[in-house]
Amino acid sequence: MNLENEILQIKNLNPGEKEFHQAIEEVLISIKPLLENCEKYKKNSIIQRITEPDRQIKFRVSWLDDQGNVQVNRGYRVQFNNALGPYKGGLRFHPSVNISVIKFLAFEQIFKNALTGLPIGGGKGGSDFNPKGKSNNEIMRFCQSFMTELCKHIGPERDVPAGDIGVGAREIGYLFGQYKRILNVHEGVLTGKGISYGGSLARKEATGYGLVYFTDSLLRKNGLNIKGKNVCISGAGNVAIYAAEKVQALGANVITMSDSTGWIYDSEGIDLNLIKKIKEVEKLRISEYKKLKPSAKYFEGKFLWSIPCEIALPCATQNEVTLECCENLVKNGTIALLEGANMPVCPEGVQLLKEKGILFIPGKAANAGGVSVSALEMSQNSLKLNWTFDQVDSKLKQIMEDILENILITCKEYNLKEDYVAGANILGFKRVADSIIEQGVI
Ligand code: NDP
Repeated sequence: MNLENEILQIKNLNPGEKEFHQAIEEVLISIKPLLENCEKYKKNSIIQRITEPDRQIKFRVSWLDDQGNVQVNRGYRVQFNNALGPYKGGLRFHPSVNISVIKFLAFEQIFKNALTGLPIGGGKGGSDFNPKGKSNNEIMRFCQSFMTELCKHIGPERDVPAGDIGVGAREIGYLFGQYKRILNVHEGVLTGKGISYGGSLARKEATGYGLVYFTDSLLRKNGLNIKGKNVCISGAGNVAIYAAEKVQALGANVITMSDSTGWIYDSEGIDLNLIKKIKEVEKLRISEYKKLKPSAKYFEGKFLWSIPCEIALPCATQNEVTLECCENLVKNGTIALLEGANMPVCPEGVQLLKEKGILFIPGKAANAGGVSVSALEMSQNSLKLNWTFDQVDSKLKQIMEDILENILITCKEYNLKEDYVAGANILGFKRVADSIIEQGVI
């Protein structure tokens, strides 16, 4: 059977799962140069095995709101592949969550985790629960109910969830508390924990900082420098805020940020303390920024990447960067786009950026800093010791540089020129597929 037919068969096996189809297609098409020269993958039915999750867990989450009404949401955990180590990947709480979104994220996570070189498999979970507008007590009751079911399926050597959209330090704290209450063990079952009870320094900053370390290295390899460049960032959550912090530390200008209601353009450079106050502390809309800094501009609706910038770092959500956005970026002379979010650029957009010679790095490589430091948190928990911020940060920097270096080697080996998507996918896929084969038919 040829590859196109195999992809069709996988789509038919998973009907209606459009995000999952998109992720499968993107990975499998790009690794053609590997598959064409590797009979063992065909012989061992690797494509069928790697695209079928080990298991998908779906459960009801009932909880009481502040008015005493019973609310019901759906919870998910997809344990996709543990060939390299325990399942590892975040939990997302957002109304858009469904099985397709969780499967696409878990599938991507397998290869992202493989790229880090650390011993972690791929998984992802979450719920269609919307944390916006909920009280602290409601969030706590929801997290406790969610963990009451999830705790049956996870463990430090089995599956170690973390945060993602809508799941930050507060939610991880409530989830951890409930796990401990039910199982009566204080162990590293989640990452992104508070520093006082087993969290790692630099975990909060890791995805954003890692993205910018990667950007800096990539530009240097291409004879360029990040200093003085204009950088557009979308999102104003965990990834976006710490990407912006590192961009500014390296002497470049962040001129845009956004949230799900609108976006701001500040030609003088974003005031990050203001953003942290609005989004991290007061949890308000980004439109507040203009009230506090009237010289900035605020626009309602989706960020269309119409502001000229040399570097684009989409850090909000999947498929936020449309073809039209990519046309704007090309027209405005952007030199590099690195995905801080998971799959933020639509497939036609990726194609255009590659054709026009814009340096494009997929999320599974560019945003791997978060899961890398999560794995370092697991190591610290096992060793029962804490590393300093600088120790973790320098390991993070090294991991990001190694990922880039290994992708460049793979691109050379398979004659992929600057197709970093194919380079990252081949490198990650090969590590997982070879391990599956070595472990027999299981
Ligand atoms: P947060 O919840 O902290 O922030 C998400 C940001 O994106 C918020 O500003 C949010 O706006 C905005 N956003 C969310 N959904 C939409 C939407 N549909 N349209 C427009 N804007 C939206 O999440 P993270 O920063 O943790 O995650 C961002 C991305 O990075 C996700 O794709 C995630 O999977 C990926 N990622 C995260 C990692 C991590 O360590 N946290 C690791 C690797 C990848 P609002 O404030 O209005 O909700």
